Formats: sequence, structure tokens, C-alpha cells
Amino acid sequence: MHEIEERLAELERLGLSRRLRLVSGPQGPTVLLEGRPVLLLCSNNYLGLADHPRVREAAAAAAMRWGVGAGSSRLVSGTMTIHGRLEERLAEFEGSEACVLFGSGYLANIGVIGALAGGGDTIFSDELNHASIVDGCRLSRAEVVVYRHRDVEHLDWCFARHGRGRRLIVTDSVFSMDGDVAPLAEIAALADCYGARLMVDEAHATGSLGPGGRGAVAEAGLDGEIDVVVGTLGKALGSYGAYACASTEMVRYLLNTARSLIFSTAPPPPAVAGALAALDLLRERPHRVERLRSNARVLRRALAAEGFPVTDSEMQIVPLIVGEENAAMRLCQEAIEHGVFAQAIRPPTVPGGTSRLRLTVMASHTHSELELAAGVFGAAARRLGLAPEAMIAPPVERQESAAQLQAAGMSSDYGVEYFSSAPFDLERDGDLPEVAAAPASWSQEPFVPERERGAAEPDAAPAGTAAARLNAPFDLERELSGARAA
Ligand code: PMP
Repeated sequence: MHEIEERLAELERLGLSRRLRLVSGPQGPTVLLEGRPVLLLCSNNYLGLADHPRVREAAAAAAMRWGVGAGSSRLVSGTMTIHGRLEERLAEFEGSEACVLFGSGYLANIGVIGALAGGGDTIFSDELNHASIVDGCRLSRAEVVVYRHRDVEHLDWCFARHGRGRRLIVTDSVFSMDGDVAPLAEIAALADCYGARLMVDEAHATGSLGPGGRGAVAEAGLDGEIDVVVGTLGKALGSYGAYACASTEMVRYLLNTARSLIFSTAPPPPAVAGALAALDLLRERPHRVERLRSNARVLRRALAAEGFPVTDSEMQIVPLIVGEENAAMRLCQEAIEHGVFAQAIRPPTVPGGTSRLRLTVMASHTHSELELAAGVFGAAARRLGLAPEAMIAPPVERQESAAQLQAAGMSSDYGVEYFSSAPFDLERDGDLPEVAAAPASWSQEPFVPERERGAAEPDAAPAGTAAARLNAPFDLERELSGARAA
């Protein structure tokens, strides 16, 4: 067998094989899925704006006025008046000095991370951060220290032991597969204490959380206090593309250094115009955000009545954690056959053993649709012998899945602390997991959370002097000369 065939067969054997499912029509509350009418419960079109008539009309009008493509990258001839207009609006929306658009959230994350950390620097990254952050960390060549999910105590502990060069903390604000929220105020305080930069990815918080849907940063009262806030246009804002909001100086720096911005075509005018119209609608009708949250409450309540272990939250992302990969696929298929579509999510998107249906609510669902969906999942689970009560309650314990994925030639994003100062090596990093052996200082000192240490002496955080020594000041000149040398 050829290598590719073998790898595909292995993915099949592991229950990790994926295929595309064809949707007809726009991303509304109901769609035709491969010809079958279903309730759509896995789209990130949270506010129902992707299919809103005003957003569609704005995109169509922009295509007529500015054309379909931007023609080149922003730094060549691709910066059009409509880009500038959306950047101004987004900076205002995020309460920041400036904004720059990227082609997508994936591109924004890899571009911003690579601009803020490089060889000799250190990135502290939540273990359940999105893959685009994981990849940004890998590409940056910085040392990457993965801290336990939402665990500020562990993050503090990591700071006390690691941190060469510039230091960057990066976190999702609303985690994409669990819908829980990062403790941003505490993380920001820690960043301040250690003189580290903080980057927050608001992909799933924009439009769903905070005053007027302005996100988790605004909800936490941290407007203007985060070094870089990344948001996407492809989820609640119903379009495609992404943005980074920051100080004027930082945005100027990103324009000069973020490679995924410099070397990629500017976002297409129809997508930019669609996002502008979506922002207008969000400002005019903020009740859509409240509707999304009340819909999330309705779905959670109905799932709980079916026996599913759902958390008491108002977030629009609701995981039903089945565990085993094939079981999640079977539940997905069974629900589709009874008229509800929620895609099964498996490794490497989530840690091994935590495969799930990731349900996402839209503001455009009706309460009765959501109640009906909960009934469909409950009945489907019971028919398959998967008792809803036996499912895993979030948040999940992390699990080691690297070996299993490695066998199939895929890399795991989860369940490992990776700590690598070696330069990016395509042979090694482009294919297999990047997990390098932990240095002695890391592995010999297991982290013991405060609550488990009892009366033992708490880990002393490094004094300000250590932070000052480790955190070399940001130096634009050094960055630029590095880029020139490369
Ligand atoms: N960040 C997070 C947290 C995400 O969930 C996603 C997409 N699922 C992205 C970034 C990437 O955004 P985009 O789809 O615009 O590339």
C-alpha cells in the first residue's frame, strides 16, 4: 500500500477519518444536508447574520462597487477604502486605538504570535487554545510553555520557572470546543506582574458576550488593557476574515512584521462590506446577543432534562462529550437521521477520549426547535446505548492522545506540555508531534496545585528582579535587523 493509503486506513481504523458534508442554502437555522432537511446546530453563524438580508445586500453592493477581489496584499495595492472603514469601525467597537484586518482568524493568530515572539522568547499558552494558536506558537520558534486549562495558579508557577526573552501569554477568551471563558482579569494581572504581553482571541466571544456583544475583554472591564485582541469576522459577524485591535504603535508594528498579513491577499471587498453591515446590525439591535444567550439557556435546560451533564452557563457552545471517537460519530449520524445536525468533533481538534458533539446555538433558532433538538439527542443516545447521564461532564480532564495520533501521522494539539527552543524544522515539525523532551528543570519539579499542597509552603513567584531579568524589553530595531538578516 502507498503511504497515503496506509495513513488513510489508519485514520479509518482509529475512528478519525473525516469527510465533507454538503449543505444547500445559506447557514440558517434549518438547511438541506446532503438533500435531507435538518435543524442546523453546529454553525458559528451565532447571531444569524451570515444570512441576514442586509448583510447579503451589503456584500452584493460592494461586489458591484469595488469588485470581488482585493487584487494584492495590503502592503502592495490591496488596501482599499472599505478596508480602512471597517478597521476604524472595529477599533471603535473594541475600544482600541487601532485595528488591522487579516484574511482569517487562523492567519491573524499565526501572524500576531509570530510578530510578538520569536527564537529566544517564551510563549505561555492555555492547553485548550485553538489550533491556529498552537500553530502560531510552533511557527514562531519561541519556547512554548503550555499551562493547564484556565489555571492561573499553574500559569504563575510556569512563569516562576520559564521565561527567556520577550514573554507572551496567549489565550482564547471563549474556548471553541467547550464554551467556557478564560479568567481574563486574573491573567491580565499576572501579565502585568511579570511584564509579559497578553494576546486574547475573541473568536467565539465577539457578538456573544459582553456589553453590546463586544466580547469577553469588554465584559471583564479590560478595554484597552490587552496588548492585542484578535477577533474573527467569520462567526457572529457572519462574514469572512479577521482583525487585530491594539495600540497605534502595535498595529504599525504588525503591519511591518506579521507575515500572514504581509504575504497574503487583502480580504475581498464583499466580505469586508458584509462585516460592516453586521456591525451596524449588532449596534442597532443588541437584543440579538440577549436572544443568543436566552437560546443557549433553553437548549441547556432541555438537554439537562434529557439527562445530559451540561454546565450552568449561558454560552452558545454546548459540548456533549461522548468520549470514544466512533461513538461520537454514531451519535452524530443517528441525530442527523432524526433531523438534527451537530458535527462530531474528534482529535486532534479535542483531546483523545473526549470526542463530542459540539452544539452551537444561533439567535435565529426558536425555543421549540432547540427543545426538539434536545429530545432528538436524548432519544438517539438512548437508542445507541449511550446513556446521556454517563457522558463526560465538562470541563474535561486532559488525556494523552499524542501516541495514537502519531501512529496515524497526525500531531496532537493536546495533552502534552511542549517546550521547544529548537528552530522550526519541516522534517520534524511539519509532520509529527513537536513534543521535545522536557528540560530537567521542568520535569523534575512537578506542579502541585495550592489546594493539594495543604499547608506546604506556596511556590514563591519570582521577584520583580527575575521578571525584569528574563523579560527583555521589546526592541523594534532588533526585530527588523533579524528580519533583514533572514
Ligand atoms: N480562533 C478560534 C478560537 C477559532 O475557533 C477559530 C475558528 N474555528 C479561529 C481562531 C480561526 O478563525 P477563522 O475561521 O476566521 O480562520
